[in-house]
Parts: sequence; C-alpha cells; structure tokens
Amino acid sequence: MTQDEVRRHLEFYRDLGIKSVYRRGARSSAPGLAPEPKTLSLPPELSVVPPLEPAHDNLLKIVQDIGDCKRCRLHEGRNRLVFGSGSEHAKLVFVGEGPGADEDEQGLPFVGRAGQLLTQMIEGTARKEGISLSREDVYICNVVKCRPPENRTPQPDEMETCGQFLYRQLLAIRPKAICALGSTAAKALLATKDGVMRLRGKWHPWRDIPVMVTYHPSYLLRPYNQNAKKEAWEDLKKVLHFVYD
Ligand code: SF4
Repeated sequence: MTQDEVRRHLEFYRDLGIKSVYRRGARSSAPGLAPEPKTLSLPPELSVVPPLEPAHDNLLKIVQDIGDCKRCRLHEGRNRLVFGSGSEHAKLVFVGEGPGADEDEQGLPFVGRAGQLLTQMIEGTARKEGISLSREDVYICNVVKCRPPENRTPQPDEMETCGQFLYRQLLAIRPKAICALGSTAAKALLATKDGVMRLRGKWHPWRDIPVMVTYHPSYLLRPYNQNAKKEAWEDLKKVLHFVYD
C-alpha cells in the first residue's frame, strides 16, 4: 500500500469516527544488514477493506454492495432498507439521520410529515428565490439506511458501519454542496460534538465539498420551534443560492 493510499484510508476511518488504529512495529534487521525500509502497515482487518472510492463507483454499484445488508443490528427491525432517492447528478444532497416508520414502510427517504416539510422547504424556498428546482433535482439520503427501533438516535457503531455507504454515495454524486439535517448528520460528516445551534448557518468542509448544517425537519414540526423554522429557511436560502446561482 502506498503512503497516499494509507493516508486516504486513515482519513476515511477518521471521518467514520474511528479515532485510533495501531501500527505494527517495524521488524528489526539482522545484525550487519542494512536496516529495512520503514513501512507504515495497516492492521490486517484494515488492509482488506474495499477501496474508499471503488473505480467508477456509482449508486447502482453501491446498492448492489449493500444488498440485503445485515452488517449492523438495525437490520433486525427493518421492513425495508432506505437507500436514498433523487438525481444521481444532483448538485445538492440532503443528509438526514435515519428512516422513520413511513420511510421504513415505503423504502424511500423523507416521505412522512418531516419529509413533506422538507419538500415544501426545498421547493417553496427555491420558488421564492426565483430558482427553478423540484425535489427530484436534489438527492436525499440518511446516515443509516435502516430504521432504528422506536426512532432512537443511531448509535456510533451503527453510524460507523453504515457511514461507508453514505460516503460512497456522496463521492459518487460529488455534489456542489451538502446540507446536513440535524446533529446526527452533522456528526457523521464533520466528526464534531458541537450541536446544530453552534454549527448551523456556516459552511464546513467534508473533504472538498462544503456542508451547511441546519435543523432536521422533524425538529421544526414541533410547535414551539418557530424561530428555528426561520433560521432553517435562512440556511436553505444560503445553500440554494450557493449551488444554483
Ligand atoms: S443500517 Fe446500514 S449497515 Fe446497518 S443493516 Fe442497515 S444498511 Fe446495513
């Protein structure tokens, strides 16, 4: 493995939230022989991971690789795996947390009440801002593809396991910007402990793609969050002008 490949793999695992990997000690040379060149070797389980960006990766290949996924415990309670929907050529990708009951039943992301609000926000804001855009033009997916029981927040190991597919989706689409909906999406992309209130409204980098963090639509559905609704609309306006102007 070249140093560049090692660096890219380590960056990949850092983005997944894995903070440390061990390095095998360099073997000592026999007396009198020139020292062996030092190589950075990954642990065996890391050296056989699939390449971060498989050659000519695309959404179809990623769907095929996920298959009838049982890589984490979330498969146990799902009805349908929710991969994502929208255009493979989208300039903008929205990333949520995970499927809810409606999504689990239909196999599509953001189709329940929160999804309807997201559609209204995307299309309504675009219309007001004079941008021709419908939901089908963007891509929408989640950090985890299977519904967590009782709609609980996905656990770190579930996010790590499923995150590889999210990253491949983003790298295959290569949008101009990503909009992270809520703190789980922000954590998955930015490896931060900061909450949405601190992160929202500003651009953050995920690799070379700018990320805007804003509130998850389900948070905006709560009646006492009117102020957050205004802020989310402001965030979205910023994203739409950045991507489509
Ligand atoms: S959440 Fe992701 S990793 Fe876990 S079973 Fe579903 S598709 Fe597989």
